[in-house]
Amino acid sequence: MEDGKPVWAPQPTDGFQLGIIVDIGAESLTIEPLNQKGKTFLAPMNQVFPAEDDVNKHVDDNCSLMYLNEATLLNNVRVRYNKDHIYTYVANILIAVNPYYDVPKLYGPDAIKSYQGKSLGTLPPHVYAIADKAYRDMKVLKMSQSIIVSGESGAGKTENTKFVLRYLTTTYGSGQDIDERIVEANPLLEAFGNAKTVRNNNSSRFGKFVEIHFNDKNAVVGGFVSHYLLEKSRICMQSNEERNYHIFYRLCAGASEDLKKTLHLDSPDNFRYLNRGCTRYFASKDSDKQILQSRKSAEHVKLGALRDPLLDDQGDFNRMCVAMKKIGLNDTEKLDLFRVVAGVLHLGNIDFEETGSSSGGCTIKKQSDQTLKFCAELLGLDQDDLRVSLTTRIMLTTAGGAKGTVIKVPLKVEQANNARDALAKAVYSRLFDHVVKRVNQCFPFQASSNFIGVLDIAGFEYFEHNSFEQFCINYCNEKLQQFFNERILKEEQELYQKEGLGVNEVHYVDNQDCIDLVEAKLVGILDILDEENRLPQPSDQHFTSAVQTKHKDHFRLTVPRKSKLAVHRNLRDDEGFMIRHFAGAVCYETTRFVEKNNDALHMSLESLVCESKDKFVRELFENSSTSKDSKQKAGKLSFISVGNKFKVSGAGRTFLHQSATWKNSEWCVFKNNFKKLSLLRNKMSYRALACIKIQKTVRMCLCRKKHKPRIEGLVKVQKLKKHMERFNEVVNGLKEGKQEMAKQVTELATAIDALSAKIKATVMTWKQIDTEYQ
Ligand code: ATP
Ligand code: MG
Repeated sequence: MEDGKPVWAPQPTDGFQLGIIVDIGAESLTIEPLNQKGKTFLAPMNQVFPAEDDVNKHVDDNCSLMYLNEATLLNNVRVRYNKDHIYTYVANILIAVNPYYDVPKLYGPDAIKSYQGKSLGTLPPHVYAIADKAYRDMKVLKMSQSIIVSGESGAGKTENTKFVLRYLTTTYGSGQDIDERIVEANPLLEAFGNAKTVRNNNSSRFGKFVEIHFNDKNAVVGGFVSHYLLEKSRICMQSNEERNYHIFYRLCAGASEDLKKTLHLDSPDNFRYLNRGCTRYFASKDSDKQILQSRKSAEHVKLGALRDPLLDDQGDFNRMCVAMKKIGLNDTEKLDLFRVVAGVLHLGNIDFEETGSSSGGCTIKKQSDQTLKFCAELLGLDQDDLRVSLTTRIMLTTAGGAKGTVIKVPLKVEQANNARDALAKAVYSRLFDHVVKRVNQCFPFQASSNFIGVLDIAGFEYFEHNSFEQFCINYCNEKLQQFFNERILKEEQELYQKEGLGVNEVHYVDNQDCIDLVEAKLVGILDILDEENRLPQPSDQHFTSAVQTKHKDHFRLTVPRKSKLAVHRNLRDDEGFMIRHFAGAVCYETTRFVEKNNDALHMSLESLVCESKDKFVRELFENSSTSKDSKQKAGKLSFISVGNKFKVSGAGRTFLHQSATWKNSEWCVFKNNFKKLSLLRNKMSYRALACIKIQKTVRMCLCRKKHKPRIEGLVKVQKLKKHMERFNEVVNGLKEGKQEMAKQVTELATAIDALSAKIKATVMTWKQIDTEYQ
């Protein structure tokens, strides 16, 4: 820093201020702000940075700043943002600032065209440039690429993900329906998996990894979406000023009168699962604030408290229906989805009351009889069975002479409420799984050379009240940050060292200790919670105390009373804990952690839905891990850990671990192939079938070999190749009229069948692996 030259110094309340140093103390500097002559403030010496000569000038890439430091970087981004340049590079990383309004011409067809084939840096920073770089790298390196979109809730991850998808499908699509379908799948996924929170009107409540697959000519051939745990608690309960998933409100607002009648729907205000959250609106952009000003008083009354004037539920419903049509959902499929959504809403309205009998059980309130009827009708359940399953639990006696007898235990009102909510969550989350599965069927592909994946998860969250959902989401973001640290900071620096570049070491905070705190075996918070769930009488307090005791001196963990916020300081030590995350400290209230960590459904409820008269509902629960062995588990409310599912399904497996996502995509192809083969078996001659089998199995094996060497032991690729060669010989022989070859064809086909069976056996093994992961 040169004498008399302006510097950036952190003002205690207003962030970095431009000023000059007027005095130098032992550890701090006295700064006189340029715009407030005569007024001075103190700043720690190590946080005062040199400023650029012209602080109003900006650069496309922060690396081109004369002095690159925290303050100049932030100032550069701010100056650019004020000029609507929302994107800035830091080398090949793109920083995006959410503009909260549509910046003119930023994303139009002309912009898309202009970035095609252009190296990073030749045009102004843009998310399209990143997408194009991923594409060019995939083409040149012949390797799949991934783009991570990271940031806190409301930062613009989902919007930018959509821009990447649109860019790639528009620019490198094959000009077929499939391109549009990949883009149009989003409104459907968002309808079922996004909701209004206090931070974002359209907050993603699930994580997704979208793969766009390319063929050997590098044209789009299809896509695949992997999803990570949906926030289930929202289905039954929302925090103040928040909403349930969009689809519920959209259906109430947009369904035709006929549909409303069929689904027995009316205003959202009349449904328990919808009417306990949203009461106030927020607006981030100025235009929205104006809308709010003009509508708030009048329309609030007219619309009811549940509709956010910034969310057009009716319009969104229509747009969603158009998208459904575009991706190929027919009217029956659409109605299936809506029926289950409505069924969940009616289920939520079922109320219980104590019977007053000595057994201490409860019954469904008389006023809820109609709701019960609607719910049973929509979900294809028997009304009486539903009544019984919600108010009792089947148990197997384990003691005395009557060991093994099935008995019905009456539930208390609170237990029945929990059973009802558990059923609603199970049905809706299965429905969401189905939506993702169905979306994947809209852009299938037979063969793919490489893919570009885009990761969009729920961003880091910090509310006044933070619960299990925030804990899981923030843990996931912590993993993502670690990936970023390793790839961008650690590996890059290692490369500099290897190449002998004399670059100063960049220090960063390794967050491995924070991740260990959450996921370490036995002592990690998730395992402690699982342990608690397995106790005969688990309790949130006991779990919290166990966490505090086990990690008494952990740097990342502390008690709520150390929080800066009074609302947290009021919590007892056994009511919560604070974790110092990479993005800031968050105080988690542990009430209901134990309950939220359990995904199990009473056996009687599970079998009820599994035996639904409605084929669609039945299929939602097919392959249910709990239904298969439910008979053995009669009586025990088995425990299925949500936290652990989260660990292995998403956060635990690094998202960009290609084999994991590849495996999912491969499943799709794999399953489709076998389905097709069995269809073909009926239709085609044996010869044709054998031919197809050979091609497919060889392709599959080769594909697996590439990714999973261990598959080699199970299926001999070479052997298959040989069969193929011989088969061609045979076919050619047949062509030449050598009839004796016909026998060989049959032999060969049998050999191929045997190999096919082997592959099927492999499939089963993989399926088991998958079950373990889910
Ligand atoms: P969450 O973690 O909660 O899912 P997110 O990071 O995915 O948050 P988005 O939903 O992408 O956040 O963005 C929030 C809102 O900000 C969008 O609904 C949109 O109104 C606005 N927004 C984001 N990016 C842009 C952009 N580039 N241009 C215009 N508006 C934007
Ligand atoms: Mg999002």
